[in-house]
Amino acid sequence: MNRSLLISLLLFPLTAMSQTLLPLPQHFTKTNGSFDVSSFYKFENTVGDEAKNLYLDNFFRNNGGSTKVFLIRKAVLKNSSNEAYRLHISKDSVVVEANSQEGFLRAGQTLMQLKQKNRIQACDIEDAPELSWRGCMLDLSRHFYPLSFLKKQVDLMAAFKLNKFHLHLTDGAGWRLQIKRYPRLTKIAGWRTQSDWVKWWRNHDRRYVTEGTDGAYGGYYTQDEMRELVAYAKERGIEIIPEIEMPGHSEEVLTTYPEIDCRNAYDSNDSSLPMTGSMCPGNEGTYSFLENVLSEVLEIFPSKYVHIGGDEADMKAWKTCPLCQQKMKEDGFKKENKLQAYLIRRIAAWLKAHNKQLLGWDEIIADSLGSNASVMVWRTQEYAADALKKGYNVVLAPNSHCYINRQQDAPELGSAGGYLSLEKIYSFKPLKIDGITAQNRKNVLGVQACLWTEFVNEAADAEYMMWPRLLAMSEIGWRGEAPEKFTNFRKRALVFADAIRKQKVNVFDLRKEKGERKESLKPVKHLAVGAKVTYNHRYSNAYAASKEATLVDGQLGGWNHSDRLWQGFIGKESLDFVVDLGKEMPIKSVAMEFMQNAGPDIYYPATLTISLSADGSNYEQVYRQEQPEVKDGLQFKTWQWNGKKRARYIHVVGTQPRSNMWIFTDEIIVK
Ligand SMILES: [Zn+2]
Repeated sequence: MNRSLLISLLLFPLTAMSQTLLPLPQHFTKTNGSFDVSSFYKFENTVGDEAKNLYLDNFFRNNGGSTKVFLIRKAVLKNSSNEAYRLHISKDSVVVEANSQEGFLRAGQTLMQLKQKNRIQACDIEDAPELSWRGCMLDLSRHFYPLSFLKKQVDLMAAFKLNKFHLHLTDGAGWRLQIKRYPRLTKIAGWRTQSDWVKWWRNHDRRYVTEGTDGAYGGYYTQDEMRELVAYAKERGIEIIPEIEMPGHSEEVLTTYPEIDCRNAYDSNDSSLPMTGSMCPGNEGTYSFLENVLSEVLEIFPSKYVHIGGDEADMKAWKTCPLCQQKMKEDGFKKENKLQAYLIRRIAAWLKAHNKQLLGWDEIIADSLGSNASVMVWRTQEYAADALKKGYNVVLAPNSHCYINRQQDAPELGSAGGYLSLEKIYSFKPLKIDGITAQNRKNVLGVQACLWTEFVNEAADAEYMMWPRLLAMSEIGWRGEAPEKFTNFRKRALVFADAIRKQKVNVFDLRKEKGERKESLKPVKHLAVGAKVTYNHRYSNAYAASKEATLVDGQLGGWNHSDRLWQGFIGKESLDFVVDLGKEMPIKSVAMEFMQNAGPDIYYPATLTISLSADGSNYEQVYRQEQPEVKDGLQFKTWQWNGKKRARYIHVVGTQPRSNMWIFTDEIIVK
């Protein structure tokens, strides 16, 4: 995208009111009149190049007039943020003040939003962000999108003062960055047999092919292309943060450079040894590989932070790998996870020696990291509290509020798990999470939306997932929490969503939003509410919801399996529990609702039986239903027995469709 497109993108017509600024400035006072940009005015820049940027350039002409003045001058603002700025706009002049280049950039971005045709509403603005990291992560491994798309997103993000664009460049589904020393990473590991990630990964195809092979899916960015993106983003006040995943999620690396796979350390050529996708931390070659790769990464990306992944490493092969075991013995490690910690510490030290900071997903806090690590929290906020307690800087990206691969409305796109509405993101309060104190507040760098792309096949789909939800992330990051009611924010979001749609951005249509699943909004009355539930096979701790109360609390679940209204079951016995109604009574129906969502491996039970008993020992099976496995997509289904019986105890058994598949249910409704 060239500059002319950017300018058209940002010059959307707006009413110059605080209601149409996004993010909302810290201080905005509307005054009378407006400044006419097209009139003859005198232009003064007392700062020079520091105040020049492509946003202010729009106003940067000396028209030779003398009556009106457009001034730019450096100020010493009390706010310590280098993004702080001040605008004073009257009918006679515009004064832009900032302490630094970043501040002038933000001021220019605000002016772009304020400008309507050739007029700028008179007002006073004093503004600075609450959080210095306002980011978005895009997974480019599962699906690859062109450079022009990344630039378009940079333009959009910049218009709303987002300032970090984190690129997940490597993962099992494809390596996306040219590394000159290791050409096979892009020649082979950048290409796979098919584009559909579900077919390719989940159905265990998982083959890579040589670049240029017929039907090969993939791609990569050359170093020059990434440099171009870095420069393009910098001009717009955005820093590109590269992520090179290690030691897990590295199937593509190990396929092309098998010498750093644990399997290479065995004497035999036994092909049955597990492919875990984790590099061998006991092999010195792994460190040379990583350092060589990172050396090239550092030459491309000037960012202070380098993201090294660090999540979900499969440690199975480390348990038997001779090199890993030898390393553990030498260093006195009792558990394999110490090997992961060792690798992270060693890379952190290497990065520190190169004046960089390691950033990794929150798994890296499992062990001491040294002072040079920062943590990106993706699991629950408890991990943020832990990281803060240990003194690390954190970027908050908890999946509950930040994973925009979740659907933004009623089920529609692909089968990514969960539901995350604009409103939910807007309710995020990063500075009020548990564990925040006046002392460690400064360690909260900021917030970030994350878009994982397993189910996001096309660039246009990625854009659809990002917008308008990034608008909410922008304001939460800039203000620290919602500065106004969601209904008011939504009005502004609509204005901007419409404006960017006109510029060919594939933005979700908020006007058609259906919202949360209506069944979840009001309680259901039935005979088992508050009854005692005894589990013969317990729910999973990860999805315990309100534990023993969940299935009898009168609350049905929403679109999202992790909304703490749904309860999750996994394991051989799956679902198996007894409800005690307290006394024998006449009942005419027992209904249970289940969720099906292939993305997070949630399926309907293969069989469901309901048995009734008066005494708790003699049961009569009254219902049995079999269910063939269903296809992708989020679905809900109720199984229901109808009849006329007396009973006190209800025994429900549901079997799982396949091993390691989840069953999710939210309530047993007895009438
Ligand atoms: Zn090993």
